[in-house]
Amino acid sequence: MNYIVIRYSELALKGKNRNWFENLLMKNIRKHLSQLGSVTVSKVYGRIIIENEAQLDKTISVLKYIPGIANFSIAHPSTHEMESISEKVVELFDDYLLEHKTKPKTFKIQTRRSSKDTPMNSQEISAAMGGVILDHHPELKVDLHDPNVIVGIEIWAKNRSIIYIDKIQGQGGLPVGSAGTVISFISGGIDSPVAAWFMMKRGCTPVYLHFHSYPFIGEQSRQKVIDLVTHLSRYQPNSTLIIVPFADIQKAVRESCEEKNRTIIYRRLMYKVGEALKRRYKAMAYVTGEAVGQVASQTLENLACTEAASTLPVLRPLIGMDKAEITEWAKRIGTYEISIQPFSDCCTVFQPRKPEIRGIPAKIVHDEKKLDLDELIAAAVENVEILKMETKVENKFWSRNEDDRLNRHPYKKTRISF
Ligand code: ATP
Ligand code: MG
Repeated sequence: MNYIVIRYSELALKGKNRNWFENLLMKNIRKHLSQLGSVTVSKVYGRIIIENEAQLDKTISVLKYIPGIANFSIAHPSTHEMESISEKVVELFDDYLLEHKTKPKTFKIQTRRSSKDTPMNSQEISAAMGGVILDHHPELKVDLHDPNVIVGIEIWAKNRSIIYIDKIQGQGGLPVGSAGTVISFISGGIDSPVAAWFMMKRGCTPVYLHFHSYPFIGEQSRQKVIDLVTHLSRYQPNSTLIIVPFADIQKAVRESCEEKNRTIIYRRLMYKVGEALKRRYKAMAYVTGEAVGQVASQTLENLACTEAASTLPVLRPLIGMDKAEITEWAKRIGTYEISIQPFSDCCTVFQPRKPEIRGIPAKIVHDEKKLDLDELIAAAVENVEILKMETKVENKFWSRNEDDRLNRHPYKKTRISF
């Protein structure tokens, strides 16, 4: 049996909503971990305790990806017998010293009792166990305010206790689902998956929207976006990816609008498709991977022209970052290797040779009026493909081996009509 103590930081700040946030985090943890078998998730004194019997390393890798978890510790079971507790404390402390190159100088024992049927109270247990460690390691000192290491002891009912020492870093942030749904525009590039991740960490639930210009853009670039969303599903219990056929829209813009305005108009039409879908998903904002000045379409003028087509707030979590910083994040969250596969998400036949750098909204709207917007958008929305990604353990431990990819069915395909 594994026992794991989960700590969450920001949740504690949420006052009256605290219960709601905790329950949501517990629901997410249950959903993620239930893929590994049965799991008990309970709340004890402002922490969450998990009990399961799955492989410990798999359990740890699942927990590392769940937003809302600040850090967690693997706990070891014992009884109420002080002798067995002290044996465990010494054993864990020795293991900790062996595993860590930088040796701690100070420590603290923190005891909590949810059952009062031990002869000693919490402080007495902490003092006694501190003494045991000092006997074994006289070079160490107790520091109650800022210790290098904390040993946790919890006394539970029915002659059970748990002891833990090390902390494993979690994602931090807020549980996914606590902030509402956003439509996250995802391309096959480096930036947009990072943008979606940032918003997930703030509790948003992204519904991914991808515009695919088949047959001008190949199947591989579609698969790349599916792989990206599959990877991002490690962070949230379920994901939805909507793939919108974009070729007819791009053809119409190329035929009817001024060449230099094309990119801005494509982007505006992406928002207009988003507008047609937002109610179905109760979306409250859009998310993009844009950063000021990164490319021609991302000057302040052009951002203003594109976002004028939206009625929802446009969230751009990467707006002030440079490419190197975004790349670092992409590596950290694990999307970089997928994003750099060489399958392009935009076709050169649709790109203007000299794009407008400083779009003027009135002129763009005037140019866009040459299109039959209602019909183009209705046709695109009518033909969307909707993929539901379930958080499956085989996705989480998916290897990028080619055979593996062919045998893998990471998503359930459903089509719904509007
Ligand atoms: P990325 O690396 O995310 O592709 P980028 O630097 O290549 O970004 P652009 O291609 O101009 O920049 O795209 C800016 C943003 O517009 C993207 O971050 C994404 O949110 C959205 N976007 C671009 N292309 C698509 C697409 N085909 N489908 C959905 N969203 C898109
Ligand atoms: Mg791109």
